[in-house]
Amino acid sequence: MEEQKGGLLVVMAHPDDESMGSGGLILRHTRAGIATHLICATYGEAGWTGKPPGAKKEDLAEIRAKELEEAAAALALSGVELWDYPDGGVTRSDQQEITQRVWDEISKLRPRVVVGWGPDGAYGHPDHIAMGACTDAAVAAMTEGERPALYHLAVDQPLAEFYREAMHLGGGDRALPLQPQEKVDVVIELDADEVMMKVRAIDCHRSQLEDWRIAIRDHPHLLQNGYGHEPYIAISSRAAGLTEKGLLGEFA
Ligand SMILES: [Zn+2]
Repeated sequence: MEEQKGGLLVVMAHPDDESMGSGGLILRHTRAGIATHLICATYGEAGWTGKPPGAKKEDLAEIRAKELEEAAAALALSGVELWDYPDGGVTRSDQQEITQRVWDEISKLRPRVVVGWGPDGAYGHPDHIAMGACTDAAVAAMTEGERPALYHLAVDQPLAEFYREAMHLGGGDRALPLQPQEKVDVVIELDADEVMMKVRAIDCHRSQLEDWRIAIRDHPHLLQNGYGHEPYIAISSRAAGLTEKGLLGEFA
């Protein structure tokens, strides 16, 4: 199939970031027929949780690659670039090489919009922060006429509240070190169908389903307020905001 130009490129660090972080944004765009590609920097081989039952730790990279493939189908992604930088070790990898590779993908796909992690990495994850910085640098290095709009995933007050409640529901005493943004530029609010589609994509990542992600299934309100609410910050955009169809402004 010939590459479609002018779509969306999402640059993430781990298999599951795309569904848990940006599943709604991706669905909103792919369902509108906008070609959406994903770069995932690592196989997520450090995310061992003992799941799914019967899994072996040494198979985790392979398991997560398969899970990502399933999630990509659930999100109707046009293509996935899965790189093998070490999970938890993106900061120790060659940042210039990563930036160059992101730049190469942007040059090849010519997306209208790139979405990546911001400097907070959502909850300070070093791989997220490093991938976000390389993505920012790659976008900045494009010549002005070729440069796509750039957005960062963000956590706002309502989303931080959702994580607090949801994780509490799961019985965990773990809390994410979230620093919610005072102001975000775009919030994608999903309808109930879209939330269910996002849940299906998240559920593909069976090895990563914390107890709270299972517990919230019985709380549709929480699902709607949390999974159904995706804030973004426009870093450079010609048309920040949402179109009538709820797409990023560049897709007007
Ligand atoms: Zn991640």
